[in-house]
Amino acid sequence: MNMKERFIKALKGEEVDKVPVVSVTQTAIVELMDKTGAAWPEAHSDAQKMADLAMASHTECGLEGVRAPYCLTVLAEAMGCTVNMGTKNRQPSVTDHPYPKGVENLQMPENLLAQGRIPVVLETMKILRAKLGDEVPLIAGMEGPVTLASDLASVKKFMKWSIKDQEAFQTILDFSCDACIQYANALVEAGADVISVPDPVASPDLLAPETFGTILKPVLQRFADGVNAPMILHVCGDVSPILEMMADCHFTSISIEEKVKDLKGAKAKVAGKVTICGNVSSPFTLLSGDEAKVKADSKRALEDGVDVLAPGCGIAPDTPCSNIRAMVAARDEFFA
Ligand SMILES: [Zn+2]
Repeated sequence: MNMKERFIKALKGEEVDKVPVVSVTQTAIVELMDKTGAAWPEAHSDAQKMADLAMASHTECGLEGVRAPYCLTVLAEAMGCTVNMGTKNRQPSVTDHPYPKGVENLQMPENLLAQGRIPVVLETMKILRAKLGDEVPLIAGMEGPVTLASDLASVKKFMKWSIKDQEAFQTILDFSCDACIQYANALVEAGADVISVPDPVASPDLLAPETFGTILKPVLQRFADGVNAPMILHVCGDVSPILEMMADCHFTSISIEEKVKDLKGAKAKVAGKVTICGNVSSPFTLLSGDEAKVKADSKRALEDGVDVLAPGCGIAPDTPCSNIRAMVAARDEFFA
């Protein structure tokens, strides 16, 4: 069973010889940027650098998959958001929004896949696919429709519409979902095996769980139904209140943080619907813990039945590579 077969089977809840260890969230680390010469912010806009940096988390840290890109702004930018490209250890962020006034003038860019950095990411997928062959899984990351809608409208307006103008709220979500489907399928066509979708704005920290159930869930279902590949839904924070609804979004797997305290209970709640990726703490263990803590947290996640051992959220760029290697070593020791 090669790494690609193992990862896809584990995502689908099929039997595997050992749990794969992968990051389904952000993978770039400053140490790897120095080693490869492919650093942020250039690696967000240069296909070869993006591919080189992505490969390093596999070749240098031992992660059993390769993931790119490194931000949640590619589609937002292609659809008219202004993006600050960040620094060597700070991710790009959206700074200006095309539709803060309302949804009357929503317009899909004519040739969406040619806009912004989308061609760069598609080229990166092709480079990586050629390099990885059929042995190692290739994961494409992209912002989910809820986060995209909030970027298009501005968080302030989006939150306001969620309460006071549900028609505008639904309209911009549908518009975002259409773009997400188109982009995700292009990523698959360019070589991605799996689409990993962080959708942080869908978190119960920001939107009421009732809103997730009535409005966000049908949008996420339509997104998942429209894409021809296994999909992973990542929502930040303590998603305990929406866990069962996340399991009903038609994604293959969900990725959760350590803030969901009871992983075993979470597994039981979603059993038969989705598998779980996670949940070694990115800030408190991988970034600031020592190797002993990384191993202890990793083994606890494995004992609790995690299907794919992974960081709970995006890896912080200043994380030491040795801690990522310790997560892989913990899995090896667990299955020895
Ligand atoms: Zn997260």
